[in-house]
Amino acid sequence: MDRYFVDFRSDTVTKPSIEMRDAMFRAFVGDDVYGEDPTVNELQEYAAQLFGKEAALFCTSGTQTNQIAINIHVKPGGEVICHEESHIYKYEGGGIAKNSGASVRLLQGSRGRLTASEIEKWIMPDDVHFPVTQLISLEDTANRGGGAVYDFQEIEAIAHLAKSKNIPLHLDGARIFNALAVNGVEIKRYAAAFDSISICLSKGLGAPVGSLLVGTKEFIHQARRVRKVMGGGMRQAGFLAAAGMFALKNHVSRLPEDHDKAKQLESVFLTCDWVESTLPVETNILVVILKEELKRDHYIQKFGELGVKVSAFGPGMIRLVTHLDISSEDMVYTIEQVKKI
Ligand SMILES: *Cc1c(COP(=O)(O)O)cnc(C)c1O
Repeated sequence: MDRYFVDFRSDTVTKPSIEMRDAMFRAFVGDDVYGEDPTVNELQEYAAQLFGKEAALFCTSGTQTNQIAINIHVKPGGEVICHEESHIYKYEGGGIAKNSGASVRLLQGSRGRLTASEIEKWIMPDDVHFPVTQLISLEDTANRGGGAVYDFQEIEAIAHLAKSKNIPLHLDGARIFNALAVNGVEIKRYAAAFDSISICLSKGLGAPVGSLLVGTKEFIHQARRVRKVMGGGMRQAGFLAAAGMFALKNHVSRLPEDHDKAKQLESVFLTCDWVESTLPVETNILVVILKEELKRDHYIQKFGELGVKVSAFGPGMIRLVTHLDISSEDMVYTIEQVKKI
């Protein structure tokens, strides 16, 4: 038996519960490349309905759903407008260049978020010198913003701008349900702002594997082809889709618990004399800014020795992410350790 520890490194570390495993075990399956897996089909139809979109596609990861969407929206030589710290640019292995041959216009913005006025400045006019702006991509919640949530009015302004310029708008909604739990916007109304949305089932929702891409029928038809080319055509994927279905039905409404836990941890960290400040918690991500920037790895190691796994976020910053495998006992234990440091 491994030693007891609490894992705050990411909300991807969750393991399927007994009930989720049971749903996986019982799943009816078929060959999904032939479109014959009933559980995958059920998940895709459920997701499309939930988001008020025509169709959905079950994929292997959030990187894959983002990369598929970019590949469809953009032609080689085109340009994607996104935040300089967005996942699609920073954490997908150079995929925009490699898979789609597109360039990026990286914008700065408060806590991972963009504004319509900033984007507007960088939409290129039709001139042979300039790359053609072919996609605008947002992230909500914004990971590098410490789980910051967009103001929906800003999203509406960006959507309006995108439409007026005839540029598609993609959402990296890896943590979209965390955002919706905070902004309170009705899900179909929110989704209507975007042409395509990527949704992670394996983060806060607790499924072991999988992401969904939603959009029009025609878009998803193309996505199916791109997914196959990227090696993501899965066969009896219904076992995984069953976990995703279980997650969507059972683990969305509990997300505010994770947000409460992150806020609780934040208030404890703010009492420590070695903590400078935090990026104010909005959802399930807590970024702690240390007084001694160069001692970050020392703190991470110290936490590790005490059985609390945290991750590096940037110079002088550590990150803790709350998720459904953090119990109230884990919280009590963690708070004791934080006070010991
Ligand atoms: C985790 C994450 C993804 C997808 O990651 P995968 O590990 O490929 O599933 C995409 N965008 C954001 C913002 C993320 O945090």
